[in-house]
Amino acid sequence: MAEHYVPDDLPTRIRHYIDGEFVDSVSGRTFDVLDPVSNETYATAAAGQKEDIDLAVAAARKAFTAGPWPKMKPRERARILNKIADAVEAQETRLAQLETFDTGLPITQARGQALRAAENFRFFADLVVAQFDDAMKVPGAQINYVNRKPIGVAGLITPWNTPFMLESWKLAPALATGNTVVLKPAEFTPLSASLWARIFQDAGLPDGVFNLVNGLGEEAGDALVKHPDVPLISFTGETTTGQTIFRNAAENLKGLSMELGGKSPAIIFADADLDAAIDSTLFGVFSLNGERCTAGSRILVHQDIYEEFCEKYAARAKNIVVGDPHDPRTEVGALVHPEHYAKVASYVEIGKTEGRLLAGGGRPDHLPEGNYIAPTVFADVAADARIFQEEIFGPVVAITPFADDAEALALANNSKYGLAGYVWTNDLTRAHNFSQNLDAGMVWLNSHNVRDLRTPFGGVKASGLGHEGGYRSIDFYTDQQAVHITLGTVHTPRFGAAAAQ
Ligand code: NAD
Repeated sequence: MAEHYVPDDLPTRIRHYIDGEFVDSVSGRTFDVLDPVSNETYATAAAGQKEDIDLAVAAARKAFTAGPWPKMKPRERARILNKIADAVEAQETRLAQLETFDTGLPITQARGQALRAAENFRFFADLVVAQFDDAMKVPGAQINYVNRKPIGVAGLITPWNTPFMLESWKLAPALATGNTVVLKPAEFTPLSASLWARIFQDAGLPDGVFNLVNGLGEEAGDALVKHPDVPLISFTGETTTGQTIFRNAAENLKGLSMELGGKSPAIIFADADLDAAIDSTLFGVFSLNGERCTAGSRILVHQDIYEEFCEKYAARAKNIVVGDPHDPRTEVGALVHPEHYAKVASYVEIGKTEGRLLAGGGRPDHLPEGNYIAPTVFADVAADARIFQEEIFGPVVAITPFADDAEALALANNSKYGLAGYVWTNDLTRAHNFSQNLDAGMVWLNSHNVRDLRTPFGGVKASGLGHEGGYRSIDFYTDQQAVHITLGTVHTPRFGAAAAQ
């Protein structure tokens, strides 16, 4: 095996960041962070408990009520957000190296994530500067306008897949709109989150506006969700965790944004551009190691092209380069953690009893250690199979044939999830009708997942509640207070006046 690359100056101690200071947990407790290639502990991270969350929320609350951030002009905040974007871009190589080391994502794909994170900050900087709100006039009688305000302390809870980018997705709109935040990143991958603190400090973000508490979901995450001074929770993660958070947030009636799991279908009709569909559906499930919420992990193929598709798809899947995440030739790296590896490996074994194995099927021979799984393709998978229904979140795909549009739609919608859908056809009428009938929050026609930041992002059914993206994020992180003003003489029914006459 090639020598394993370790970035220079790799941090070995990951701390919280509260009120402008790096600190350990009040209890002094830590947890181990593993490198997914060697599965050895390379760092310890502070394990936050309720008392650490209390300190972080108090700092964020103070920065919200007494600090300058919520009251600053959008342009002033935007300047700081653009400095943050500049810093992320300037450190792109280092950020990508650390992200790859921590997550096992291929380095070429981690680089794209850092640039996307910078773009999120620029985008929301632009949006708040251009933001205007409604005014409604009743001629001669009343004028009503919307006074948009930040809400307070936003709790941001993020998963381990593409952690830096997904954190930016929440941090940028929450901060742009004038809120203060407490971020609780995923415990498998705390490394890149700790980099935000220095970037924010250098860009001039006031102390207490950004706070970071590491720790386990059931401890630090749970305390954040239950904290009475945190009116908003934006969560991305598994559907079952989302359900727990929903229950726990009910007591304090919080604003919730839920971006949850997926099992998205890619539907290939007989009239599709087959080569383009094969490129895209390979990328759609095997990029980011298959650890991707919008992965097209169920491929439905018209029976007339089914065998040809399966043959070509499997040949390409066998050829995908699996290897050290830091090698720029690598297309699929190491899965994030041995626990997740065991989960994905168990689905590969289940798949062998549920479908026809066309490629992969376990650990590649040349990689005896580390969390590596060869891109795995199962054909002839029935709709009630577990590998058709359950989110695997790894490099595993199920292929199923269909006879006509009605069967394709029934198969596509036969899922508790509804995050994304990918439709491949050159028939314009079919493309629109089929897409509109899909139970999916987002559909791509003749494309893999290429996202315009202005569009709504979110799922239906068990894939989420609420939409973020563009103005929907601004709406989530702000209150829209309606202010009503009388222009003429106010005509009020005169209660109590009759008896006096
Ligand atoms: P997860 O639900 O296990 O953890 C996500 C976060 O929630 C972590 O920070 C974790 O510590 C925290 N958490 C866990 N239990 C908690 C609790 N009781 N209270 C508060 N916080 C708690 O998810 P994961 O394994 O890190 O990520 C993978 C999942 O995320 C997949 O299901 C994937 O589809 C989903 N995902 C969805 C999107 C989307 O936009 N829809 C994007 C990326 C990932």
